[in-house]
Amino acid sequence: MQTQILERMESEVRTYSRSFPTVFTEAKGARLHAEDGNQYIDFLAGAGTLNYGHNHPKLKQALADYIASDGIVHGLDMWSAAKRDYLETLEEVILKPRGLDYKVHLPGPTGTNAVEAAIRLARNAKGRHNIVTFTNGFHGVTMGALATTGNRKFREATGGIPTQGASFMPFDGYMGEGVDTLSYFEKLLGDNSGGLDVPAAVIIETVQGEGGINPAGIPWLQRLEKICRDHDMLLIVDDIQAGCGRTGKFFSFEHAGITPDIVTNSKSLSGFGLPFAHVLMRPELDIWKPGQYNGTFRGFNLAFVTAAAAMRHFWSDDTFERDVQRKGRVVEDRFQKLASFMTEKGHPASERGRGLMRGLDVGDGDMADKITAQAFKNGLIIETSGHSGQVIKCLCPLTITDEDLVGGLDILEQSVKEVFGQA
Ligand code: PLP
Repeated sequence: MQTQILERMESEVRTYSRSFPTVFTEAKGARLHAEDGNQYIDFLAGAGTLNYGHNHPKLKQALADYIASDGIVHGLDMWSAAKRDYLETLEEVILKPRGLDYKVHLPGPTGTNAVEAAIRLARNAKGRHNIVTFTNGFHGVTMGALATTGNRKFREATGGIPTQGASFMPFDGYMGEGVDTLSYFEKLLGDNSGGLDVPAAVIIETVQGEGGINPAGIPWLQRLEKICRDHDMLLIVDDIQAGCGRTGKFFSFEHAGITPDIVTNSKSLSGFGLPFAHVLMRPELDIWKPGQYNGTFRGFNLAFVTAAAAMRHFWSDDTFERDVQRKGRVVEDRFQKLASFMTEKGHPASERGRGLMRGLDVGDGDMADKITAQAFKNGLIIETSGHSGQVIKCLCPLTITDEDLVGGLDILEQSVKEVFGQA
């Protein structure tokens, strides 16, 4: 396997190729193939970008047909038939059935672009600069989004330029059991001497992805929404990782019955792994002036095509979401058993998550790395997250077959046992 040019030319900033040092050639569903003939089950799925698996046949066909017909690929943000179809499908299949009324901003194609646009919109709409964000939150690495991201590794990479415009509050559970962290936030909001600049908005992941698969409790999210309303702050849900079905509903906030003012989606939005993001906003918040937030890649026609096809194929009724929830319970059960096994062996571990966004917290990053490295040797691609990489996270494709799901979990169990010398 020839890797010299990859090691020599690509910047040291590369990450995933360090955890999975092989050359991949093909992929289908939840299976990845490497040049050396090895095959892997994919529990990473592009960090939540491939919710419908690799090369889903329906989406691939829609894309191939569109390209074959010389459909518009790039047109800045000009109107295209593909954009119209995407907007119509979003409205009819996703928004209307959920009683949601949003306008759509198409920023650049990455998650961090969507977050930048969302927080800038909130600031302009409210005429205040401060954005409240939460401990362990991850919202991207461009300067505005980075200011709302907790992890020091990313924050320290700015070359000394301070990140500005955000205040951190403790996420649900951050202070341990029995402490409602929102009481602290609410107290500061009502205290002219508490040091908190009046926020324009709150940005939150309902289940923190990179921060360690931390689900916010449903009553906690409902209280957060109320606090936002009571204090005239906008509620931004960053659904870039938890959205598009990952938690068992199209939007992760549906579980709590809350209605954000602004929503960001990216990752699995195109359904096919194509770069694509949008910001959804309550219509009255659309105060942008023409071209005020621009960019060359605003909306990507190929992604419009696959995103519309994915919404129609998976979200026209609730069959898919019920299946995701069922598979989530399978992972939950196996992760609980693994956590008990490790705890009995003297290494406390626990399980958490929502839908098919699940984590096995093994307490420290070294242990998590040993297990995931062993899993890779055994044919499973699975990554870690959390403040010290202590959480092994399952982000398998939502479309994974039961056979591959159980196969991947079997590999993980075997790997845990090998690490504990029990295989
Ligand atoms: N927001 C959340 C919740 C994310 O998980 C991520 C990426 O992992 C981002 C924003 C940033 O997205 P991108 O990496 O596409 O810039």
